[in-house]
Amino acid sequence: MRTIIFGQAFIVLLCSCADVDPSKKAAPKVLKASSQQTSPEKLKDTTVVSQFNLVDVQSLNKDIFVELKYATTDNFMGIILYERLKKAYLQKDVAERLSKVQGYLSQLKPGFHLLIYDALRPVSVQQKMWDALDSLPPVERGKFVSNPKNRSLHNMGAAVDLTILDQNGVPLDMGAGYDDIRQIAYPSMEKQFVAEGKLTTVHMANRDLLRNVMKSQGFRQLQTEWWHFNACSRAEGLLKYKVLFEEP
Ligand SMILES: [Zn+2]
Repeated sequence: MRTIIFGQAFIVLLCSCADVDPSKKAAPKVLKASSQQTSPEKLKDTTVVSQFNLVDVQSLNKDIFVELKYATTDNFMGIILYERLKKAYLQKDVAERLSKVQGYLSQLKPGFHLLIYDALRPVSVQQKMWDALDSLPPVERGKFVSNPKNRSLHNMGAAVDLTILDQNGVPLDMGAGYDDIRQIAYPSMEKQFVAEGKLTTVHMANRDLLRNVMKSQGFRQLQTEWWHFNACSRAEGLLKYKVLFEEP
């Protein structure tokens, strides 16, 4: 067990998908992480991945870049959450749509790339995130991470967290970082933050670019996370796709 103290400037969200309560308040001061850091191992993508009809996004389109934050210690828990998962996997039809998004982005902005922060996330990892918040009452905990019992489109490879890299390989400034749970990360509150001068025209142009290219293939942005896009509704996902419980 280790203790993580959240700084105010880097309050983070456990990317909880479509059921985040927009009224969520400030992050807890102290969280506990219950998993141990382990050495990464090469992912075997011949069994579970093919069985679940998952596709390595970069095998479809090498112009899409990947930096899985949960496969590193650069995440809200400060530990490696993905012990074997080192690639961005999505359902095949979802990955094909994302590949078209990259094609559209390349047309609009030559040299720009999608950068994926998270894609397929097994329930077991969602559980680790949930367990890390075990000092909170369940209602409060649900504001920071989806209850793993409810499943998430990430668990099916039908949601993606991403941003855009410019022609110099620099992530566009969205006015809030990845996994930032402050309301300034909420697409639903952009107008207010623009009016207050806390989001600039550059931030908004960058967010609009991401939103527009993703919408071109029917991805739906979560209203509390500028970086999270669902390929379909959770109900549709549960009908169409299998839920992955463990890391491949
Ligand atoms: Zn997400």
